[in-house]
Amino acid sequence: MRKLVEKKIVLASHNAGKLREIAELLVPYGIEVVSAGDLGLEEPAETEDTFAGNARIKAHFASENSGLPAFSDDSGITVDALGGAPGVYTADWAETDNGRDFPMAMTKVWKLLEAKNAPAPRTAAFNCTLCLAWPDGHDEVFDGRVNGQVVWPMRGKLGFGFDPVFLPDGETETFGEMNPAKKHGMSHRADAFRKLIDGCLA
Ligand code: IMP
Repeated sequence: MRKLVEKKIVLASHNAGKLREIAELLVPYGIEVVSAGDLGLEEPAETEDTFAGNARIKAHFASENSGLPAFSDDSGITVDALGGAPGVYTADWAETDNGRDFPMAMTKVWKLLEAKNAPAPRTAAFNCTLCLAWPDGHDEVFDGRVNGQVVWPMRGKLGFGFDPVFLPDGETETFGEMNPAKKHGMSHRADAFRKLIDGCLA
């Protein structure tokens, strides 16, 4: 496994929230994070059908075009009774002409489960794949996951995306109700980050 010895990396995302979270996480390692947007890089099309495939596209594109190591995150919710949907298309299911509408996407998932008469618990997982790519084409990929179930109605106003309908195993609060520090300690992203830190930064 290759160690990250460079002190500056690009985050292959135009999402300000992700940039802040990741920059904070890398402060203890003395690593400066710049965003693909700040460098004027475009966003490549996410044409793969796996989280790892799309994470790789984003990290390699940013690394090749900046000459720096680049870091990407691809994530989504997989619902077992829907054959793993929406999965890599989680953000797409929320897309409307006026931006993303997650209550609409969560309602769609629930209606599909009802139409199938899917038995409870309606098991699901949040998945996160992180990719660290270098300009010479090498990469390291880390998968994180948290298991749970889809519940209805939506609960809680914290978090984002599908958090209000995701109840993690062993918990009584959805991610939408849970204190953010607690969510960040147990989430799919935290799981993948721990693996990345152990593999490339420790
Ligand atoms: P991406 O930014 O293209 O990887 O889209 C991932 C999508 O998955 C997001 O837009 C969210 O809807 C969903 N998602 C990923 N992680 C979380 C999470 O921690 N909570 C809620 N939704 C999430």
